Amino acid sequence: MSLIENIIRPDVRALAAYHVQDAAGVLKLDAMENPYTLPAELRTELGQRLADVALNRYPVPSYAKLKAQICATQGVPAGYDVVLGNGSDELIAIMSIACAKPGAKVLAPVPGFVMYAMSAQLAGLEFIGVDLLPDFTLDTAAMLETIRRERPAITYLAYPNNPTGGLFDEAAMVEILHAVGDTGVVVVDEAYQPFALTSFMPRLAEFPNLIVMRTVSKLGLAGIRLGYMSGSAALLREFDKVRPPYNINVLTQAAAEFVLGHSDVLNAQAADLRAQRSALAAALAALPGVEVFPSAANFLLIRVQGDGVSANDVFARLLDRKVLVKNVGKMHALLQNCLRITVSTAQENAVFLDAFTASLAS
Ligand SMILES: *Cc1c(COP(=O)(O)O)cnc(C)c1O
Repeated sequence: MSLIENIIRPDVRALAAYHVQDAAGVLKLDAMENPYTLPAELRTELGQRLADVALNRYPVPSYAKLKAQICATQGVPAGYDVVLGNGSDELIAIMSIACAKPGAKVLAPVPGFVMYAMSAQLAGLEFIGVDLLPDFTLDTAAMLETIRRERPAITYLAYPNNPTGGLFDEAAMVEILHAVGDTGVVVVDEAYQPFALTSFMPRLAEFPNLIVMRTVSKLGLAGIRLGYMSGSAALLREFDKVRPPYNINVLTQAAAEFVLGHSDVLNAQAADLRAQRSALAAALAALPGVEVFPSAANFLLIRVQGDGVSANDVFARLLDRKVLVKNVGKMHALLQNCLRITVSTAQENAVFLDAFTASLAS
């Protein structure tokens, strides 16, 4: 046996490395990034703030000021706190580790966010995916039946869902929260909340088993890696024990405190992207052989079903034209011939539309 076989878990050896497409010189519409940066004056001011940060000191691990600012600006109900993560990816990992009792299970609708299954597997929990219906709405009956049979410790509902973009039915989500009861937590993942304008955050007090998770990534700060989640004090206390004490670095902390003090800038960018989403969806829906699914996020899921042209063809032709979108067709059987396109500025969307229209033909 080799060193690797001697020490590395077989399921880890079997994993494919997370593949990120090289995006040098292409129009990057694959990762739901906000195309806007901060205005020049704010960038200058931010630079000064960051220059003043004591890089020689460990962060103060309570992060009291940043947490209070998030609670005050992001609609966290009075009396509720947050736990911070190095991106929501880390929050997902923290919950997996905290809930990894022998035999514990994680449930999510599929196709969904890949980190739920990945994190469950790495922490030793069984992942159970329940297929969405072909129109990408929740199969509520199948979800409830699986919850009653499997008793998952964690159920994830991305609201809106990635990669499909739609909002699940709120009444169905409430049924799921009740069905789970005190045998598990239900994590409502609101990564795209700035584009959805609806939230379970105001409903925290109704459900002791509800965790609402958010991130600043899609809002325009993907590079700083900051996520947060709120829920009952009892749950947060346990999850916080698993959090590495210095998980938010001092530069992220300072940048977040500064930018959250200018939430109006990010909110205006999100409003613009919501308007661009409507325009892009209408333009795509007008093309023959293109189906556009409803989206409450900063991306659109489309299906290409023209004569003799597949999404694989269109994806490759777009890349030849220096436009990168996400080819999701292989993620799940329901996503056949589907592409996921990040909504960008009016100008970049126009470049995309031209390239896309040409790519449908040849
Ligand atoms: C993009 C995304 C996240 C964000 O993860 P970060 O680690 O905070 O960047 C979380 N959940 C869903 C469903 C997403 O699509």
